[in-house]
Parts: sequence; structure tokens; C-alpha cells
Amino acid sequence: MKRISVAQPRLGGNEKKYVLDCLDTNWISSNGKYIGAFEESFAEFCGVKHAIATNNGTTALHLALVALGLQPGDEVIVPTVTYIATANAVRYCGATPVLVDVCADTMNIDPAAIEAKITPRTRGIIPVHLYGHPAQMDVINEIAQRHGLWVVEDAAEAHGAEVQGRRVGGLGTCATFSFFGNKIVTTGEGGMVTTNDAELARTLRLYRGQGMDLQRRYWFPVVGYNYRMTNIQAAIGLAQMEGIDTALAERERLAGWYADALSALGDRIVLPVRRDGAKEVYWMYNIFLRDATEEQRDAVMRRMDEMGIETRPVFYPMHVMPPYRESATYPVADLWSPRGINLPTHQDLTREDVQRVAESLAAAMA
Ligand SMILES: *Cc1c(COP(=O)(O)O)cnc(C)c1O
Repeated sequence: MKRISVAQPRLGGNEKKYVLDCLDTNWISSNGKYIGAFEESFAEFCGVKHAIATNNGTTALHLALVALGLQPGDEVIVPTVTYIATANAVRYCGATPVLVDVCADTMNIDPAAIEAKITPRTRGIIPVHLYGHPAQMDVINEIAQRHGLWVVEDAAEAHGAEVQGRRVGGLGTCATFSFFGNKIVTTGEGGMVTTNDAELARTLRLYRGQGMDLQRRYWFPVVGYNYRMTNIQAAIGLAQMEGIDTALAERERLAGWYADALSALGDRIVLPVRRDGAKEVYWMYNIFLRDATEEQRDAVMRRMDEMGIETRPVFYPMHVMPPYRESATYPVADLWSPRGINLPTHQDLTREDVQRVAESLAAAMA
């Protein structure tokens, strides 16, 4: 029986044509028409004024923090459940990621737990829209405003998610995206920073291009980075944007199939929720085994793997991993992260595939 992978890209549109155009015209490095075209298309999609493409999502995060002036000794609030790049980018600046517990239903940062972690050294908050669920941006922005903090949305997993009808990417001071091969939009490796702030956009472009003055070539007023995206990556990205509406619709349809197919398991599992005012996108369809231990969860994933179904565990909380280990407990993360499983989520899954995943999950749990 065919193996079902947890993620795979859909490259059936103009990706090949645009990449061949780069090769045919010699524009293969970080100059060329596709970079600006991809940035414009992405900015328009997010409803923001500026988009700055980078070579991956981690450098997009680091670039944003550099442009916001994050310094050694500063602190930044981040959720304990996230992909490690969020915390790492803070550490690259010599600053400290200060961890906050998450909400049980979405695994997103719990706004009610943020203020207790704010100190005189806190500079900003990085809410992560985990697995496509948008964070509670209205509450988070209100807290940030009251304390004079910036907000960077880590939107790497949530291209197209909405809060009160507004897309992520324009809901904080700036936002960062990833276009890794398993993300909703891919360029192989790639990233983007989006913002409505023209001055911040200029600073982002300055630091992205090794610090070279945007008006005066080979004049470097600051120490910058080479975080540029190539024209080839952007060519793939532009073609991906032509298919983004279809991608979001097909992922939503997939989520509907999962909800149907998994209903037979009743309350032994917890399905994704839709919060009032939030429109989630399905980067990863995540479920929880309600009463399982971590060992039982891992055994279920192993059995599914033997049946040809690839899955992933929910991210381990930052506070249990060596670089960020703490003795403090984060009750919600500690309770739910070890019970979470990401099921296969991509555009080439059929209704029959979804049925097979559900049946293998039921068999693995039996
Ligand atoms: C994928 C991801 C990143 C980093 O993106 P890369 O392109 O892999 O560097 C950052 N944050 C989150 C939440 C992610 O899922």
C-alpha cells in the first residue's frame, strides 16, 4: 500500500516555467524580476504595504529582531510550545526568550499568562500562529501597547489565517513567514517579513543586504547580513501565490474530511477547534489523544508508521529542551504537548487516504 507522508509540496502550476525563465535569462542569484514580483504579490495577499523576502524563515525572524533593535540583555516573550527557530532567533541577538504557557485548544500563547512575565528588560512579544491557528492578536496588542512593546507575529505556519476578517502578517509591528518545503507556500527554503511601517521596511532591506546603503552602492553604514532570497526561490514563490486560494480551500476541505472520519473515535481524541472571530488555516491537522501518556502517544505513532502513515509529534515545549531548559512547569504545555499528533496534511490527500489515516489511528489506539 502507498505510503502517506505527513507533508509534501504541490508544484503543479507555473513553478517550472518561471524557474526555467530564470535559467534561460541568467538571473539565478538575488537580483531579478521575480523577487519584487513575489514580494508584491505576498504583500497584497497579507493586506500589508511592505514585504521583504529572505532566504529562510529563521533569518526572517532574526532580521526582524535586528531591525527592531533587539540587544544583548533584552528579553522577549515567546510561547513555550513552538518550533525552536522562534526562541533561537532571540538568542542570536544575545537576548533571552522568556517562556509563556499556551492555551489547551490551540497551543497558542496564553495572553492571560503574558503580563506576569513582563520585566523592565522586556522589549517585545512573539506570538506564534501555531499549526495555522491565529493567536489572540487583539488582546496581545493591547498588552503590548500598555507596556510599550513591539509585537512580531511568527506566521510561518499560518499563511492566510485571519483574525476578525484581517489576515495575519499585518496584525502586529511586523510578521515573519517561512517557505520551507512543508509550509503552505514553499520556495524550497525561503522566508518573508511583512510590515506596514515604511521606516522599518527600509531598515529590514538594509540589514538583509549586508548593510549596504540602499542609495549608495558599496557603502556600508552598519554591519548587516546576507539574508537575500534568490530569483529562483522567488520564481517558485510567485507561482505558489497563484495557487494559494486553491491551497487554502483544499486544506479546509481536508480538515472537513478528517472531522467526519475521526468522529467514530468519539471523545477519545480532541479535534481542532475554531475560535470566535478567528479563521484558521490547516498547516498541520493536529489532534490530541485525550488520556494518553507520552509513551502511549509515541506507540500509536509507531504503529501508524508501520501501517504506512507518517505523523509528527506536537512540538516539545522549549522548557524541556537543553538550550532553554527550566525547572519551572508550564501546566498546559506539559499536559497537552505529549498527547498531540500532527496527521498528514497536504493537498494531494484524497478522501480515501483520510479514511485510511483514521482507520489506522483507530487500530493503533486499540
Ligand atoms: C518553519 C518555522 C520557522 C522557521 O522557518 P525555516 O524556513 O525553516 O527557517 C519559524 N517558526 C515557526 C513557527 C516555523 O514553523
